[in-house]
Amino acid sequence: MLPIAFVAEYLYCQRSSFYYLSGAENGEEENPYIQSGRAIHSNTDIKGSRYRDQFKEVTGVRLVNYHYGLVGKADLVRELEDELIPVEYKSGQLKRAENHRFQLILQSFCLRDQFCKQIRKGVVYFYEVNECCEYEFSSKEFKKAEETLMEIREKLSIGNISLFGKISQQSCVHCSFYNICMPYLE
Ligand code: SF4
Repeated sequence: MLPIAFVAEYLYCQRSSFYYLSGAENGEEENPYIQSGRAIHSNTDIKGSRYRDQFKEVTGVRLVNYHYGLVGKADLVRELEDELIPVEYKSGQLKRAENHRFQLILQSFCLRDQFCKQIRKGVVYFYEVNECCEYEFSSKEFKKAEETLMEIREKLSIGNISLFGKISQQSCVHCSFYNICMPYLE
């Protein structure tokens, strides 16, 4: 079973996804970004619910999907009559990112099968700036996510770190794996 958040990392940096998925997070260094993320998620880790005008919101929803081999947690799920909307909390400034979309789609695979409801979109909520990014999902995107998941599993089964590409060094300076990754080396 693969943790959804670690799989989704693959669309940000394949190498850091490999470190997480292969259990190398012990080599991860504590930094302000990790601390900020942990502080934000301390509120959403606890299961609870509240009612809004037109929907119910549930926090800390445990996720599992045996077909895809995924486990994880949705920070918050909005329950509408015939639809669920996963909401992921992030730190930092508002931005659109393919790894965020991928994470929401993987969460949707679990929610869809666990609760037998449709998932048409997901939301990333940027807690510090109180702004949201919405992602609409199409069947094409669900298919693409399945293919990416298969690609990751295939690479993991080979187990060769060089199959997991690094990103540009400019984006590496704040990475908690910087010292074990040494992105400046070929
Ligand atoms: S240092 Fe850069 S290449 Fe290495 S894991 Fe971190 S983000 Fe990826």
